[in-house]
Amino acid sequence: MQIKDSVIVVTGGAQGLGRSMAEDFASQGAKLALLDMNADMLDDAAAACQKLGAADVQTYSVNVTDEAAVEATFAAIDAHFDGLDVLVNNAGILRDGMLIKCKDGEITHKMPLQQWQSVIDVNLTGTFLCGREASAVMAKRGKKGVIINISSVARAGNIGQTNYAATKAGVVAMTVTWARELGRFGIRCAAIAPGFIETPMTAQMKPEAVERALSMVPLRRWGQPTEIAHSARYIIENDFFSGRVIEIDGGVRL
Ligand code: NAP
Repeated sequence: MQIKDSVIVVTGGAQGLGRSMAEDFASQGAKLALLDMNADMLDDAAAACQKLGAADVQTYSVNVTDEAAVEATFAAIDAHFDGLDVLVNNAGILRDGMLIKCKDGEITHKMPLQQWQSVIDVNLTGTFLCGREASAVMAKRGKKGVIINISSVARAGNIGQTNYAATKAGVVAMTVTWARELGRFGIRCAAIAPGFIETPMTAQMKPEAVERALSMVPLRRWGQPTEIAHSARYIIENDFFSGRVIEIDGGVRL
């Protein structure tokens, strides 16, 4: 699929990886629908995309965990753009913490259910809802489409990330399932599993966690958001790529 004039929906498009991918698609003349919760940052991202050459940019302030809001948003996108070609399911959050803490035989901490659930809601349910609505629009209109889900190197399991790792493994399982289910409609689905990339999300990490993370990366540096955008472009443009995960992580193994 060519990117120029394609309608590309990016969730979490206001900053970080989502914004970087949107800017990359914009510079190639795509039509963009940017979804995020922060309206001011969405406006800023949209202005940057217009400047870079996007054929059209619309913003939608929406929480991807809200089923009714997601349905209404995809209906609005369908109406404005006459369908859609690509969804990048990128919105995601981290709420790291240990499953339990135990000192001298006493349990001092348990991961609260809310900490688990909030990450499940955004990373897994949000991805499910947006994928469902996007594929419904694509199939209804009989147009080929592409869904890109953003997983993580943490899908293999990582200390302090019970919730996050579970969602990112789940995202890969959904990717393979959708590639199998939706291929008959000409819809491809693939995932990108980034390593540590320099975005506002990783800026939340404690200095000792940053040091530990970088020591595990053979290339000894953070990845850049543009390096993830490069992979998204590859998935869109390669019409035989489906059901697989691209790992962009500088060689890190958790
Ligand atoms: P980011 O800088 O925090 O950006 C994520 C964006 O998603 C934010 O604008 C955020 O808005 C938005 N968002 C969060 N919850 C949302 C919701 N319920 N509905 C709509 N939008 C929501 O994160 P990032 O680093 O770019 O990460 C993007 C994706 O890549 C995530 O899925 C992440 O798990 C994955 N990833 C990142 C890395 C990395 O090293 N950065 C590595 C592996 C995977 P608010 O700021 O308002 O919450």
